Amino acid sequence: MNTFLSESQESLKETYAAFAKEQILPVANKLEDHSLNLKEFIQKLGQNGYLGITVPKEYGGTGGNFIDLIVFVEAVSQYDAGLGLSLAAHYGVVELINKFGSDVQKSRYLPLLARGECVGALAINEHQAGTDVMAVAASTAGGALSGEKTWVVNGSVANLFAVLARGENAVEFRLVDASGDKSVSVGPDKPKLGLRSAATNDINFDKHQLGKDSLIADGKAEEALQYVLNVAKVIAGAAAVGLVDAALEHSAEHARNREQFGQKISQFQGIQWKLADMSTECAAARLLTYRAAWSKELKPEEFARDAAMTKLFASKVARVHSSEAVQILGSLGIMSDNPVERAYRDSKVLEIAEGTSEAQKLVLVKELGI
Ligand SMILES: Cc1cc2nc3c(=O)[nH]c(=O)nc-3n(C[C@H](O)[C@H](O)[C@H](O)COP(=O)(O)OP(=O)(O)OC[C@H]3O[C@@H](n4cnc5c(N)ncnc54)[C@H](O)[C@@H]3O)c2cc1C
Repeated sequence: MNTFLSESQESLKETYAAFAKEQILPVANKLEDHSLNLKEFIQKLGQNGYLGITVPKEYGGTGGNFIDLIVFVEAVSQYDAGLGLSLAAHYGVVELINKFGSDVQKSRYLPLLARGECVGALAINEHQAGTDVMAVAASTAGGALSGEKTWVVNGSVANLFAVLARGENAVEFRLVDASGDKSVSVGPDKPKLGLRSAATNDINFDKHQLGKDSLIADGKAEEALQYVLNVAKVIAGAAAVGLVDAALEHSAEHARNREQFGQKISQFQGIQWKLADMSTECAAARLLTYRAAWSKELKPEEFARDAAMTKLFASKVARVHSSEAVQILGSLGIMSDNPVERAYRDSKVLEIAEGTSEAQKLVLVKELGI
């Protein structure tokens, strides 16, 4: 196994880093306070090819692999981990269709998703079905979808929802094209601690008439659900890595410049050790994330384990070390216009979104056969 990047991926990494610095950094605060139109911004990402990284070329995408996408998410999350979460939702739908879609579904949706003319969202959880995701009550009885989904990232900007619902005999996945459809209503954006740039809404489906091609992963809904959740977890892991990498850069820079007691605070061993731990655990989280991305493509039997480890570890590293970054910056670190203040808030949400840390431990314990 090679968890390091190929030469071409190293070069992609530089391209993505330059893009993120030029295009995401200047608008990161506006995306967070919603003074910039998120839908238009996401569509622009699509026009520039960033929503179709893993879409095959024959469907109008870049034809890249999952690691390419992970490297992109890491780059944008240096400035806006909320955008990383938006990408997790969009690419969750892309990957669902890539793996389980019929030819009709692929040719209908993948080109639109790649161009950003269609934005994807995962409508899985419900009020009573959080960690216990199979307790969903939304129903497709009689060919109409009814039910209330909660915490749907991209809810207000998406037009293609992958919806988990109860069919006649079993749980099933449906692709719901909701453009201008009155049977699909979107609740207000939920105010939250962090990752605010990611729109998060409740979605109500009221007797939405399902098209004949809406069923995806027929008879394999549980497998598809786990796959999509694993994809989203690894993308969230990449967002956590980008976030903590930026926190490291900000805090190291501050330590090099701030003087107390007649010397730079970087000369104090207490500060040095924080930075050494941050740097080590950021690197470890990155390697776990790349390994999970690698196993998705090349060792699928290990993907669930690696995705759970990635989500558990990377989000914890992000929370612990963004807190240390705030500490190193002192009073500056808690100011609301400081990137480490935002990183600290965003990191906590990463321990809950895309499955809680405890949910990852449940997967890992099961993998151990316990
Ligand atoms: C920012 C954000 C974005 C999200 N995006 C989406 C999305 O795009 N689509 C979507 O469908 N959903 C989304 N969700 C929902 C998310 O997946 C759920 O919030 C998450 O799975 C936890 O469910 P819950 O909030 O109901 O918590 P609960 O399941 O009620 O859990 C509460 C607490 O109990 C713990 N717990 C639960 N069961 C166990 C157990 N068996 N053992 C030990 N501890 C346990 C949990 O870990 C947690 O600490 C999002 C949530 C957030 C916060």
